[in-house]
Amino acid sequence: MNKAKVLIIPVTAFQQNCMLLWCEATKRAVVVDPGGDLPEVERAIAEADVAVDKIWLTHGHIDHVGGAADLKTRLKVPIEGPNREDLFLLQHVAETARSFGIPDASNVTPDRWLEDGDKVEVGELTFDVLHCPGHSPGSVVYFNRAERLAIVGDVLFAGSVGRTDFPGGDSRQLLKSIRDKLLPLGDDVAIISGHGPTTTIGRERATNPFLQ
Ligand SMILES: [Zn+2]
Repeated sequence: MNKAKVLIIPVTAFQQNCMLLWCEATKRAVVVDPGGDLPEVERAIAEADVAVDKIWLTHGHIDHVGGAADLKTRLKVPIEGPNREDLFLLQHVAETARSFGIPDASNVTPDRWLEDGDKVEVGELTFDVLHCPGHSPGSVVYFNRAERLAIVGDVLFAGSVGRTDFPGGDSRQLLKSIRDKLLPLGDDVAIISGHGPTTTIGRERATNPFLQ
């Protein structure tokens, strides 16, 4: 990586990897998956001294989107993603939050739904959108070909794959998404998952027990 800078900010009781991602050339940034703990996210933005243009969401689960509506209001920026198939999750964020004992989470209305093959931009960086259903029906992955970087949400983890026991989950579809969309990106591609450590496509192809 050279132009793309990423700061991982674990948020919420779920230790979700919220990310501040920016273009070093322009200092324009996006916040990916602001699940909550917004004071920490805003502190990271101030410390990095970047200007946030957008919020990107990988999918509609509460730990990834719980702070999205609030952050959108505070920063006055649009929300891009996920795929429209996660609408049913985004319409029930407040209700789901209450059931987990999380206060102050609002339902989320994206300004732009993303389809497979779409492109999203921040500064001089362009990311391809890959629709990767299975963990949730509307999960998307953001892939920067030049920087060899993929932000995969809860599709793929170091040594594991996303859960499929939530509403709309489908284990067969998840493995198909990983095999058809992620593994072909190349072994050198760095993976930032929604939880846990970073990894690479090559390491997961060789060692992930779910992919053998
Ligand atoms: Zn999830």
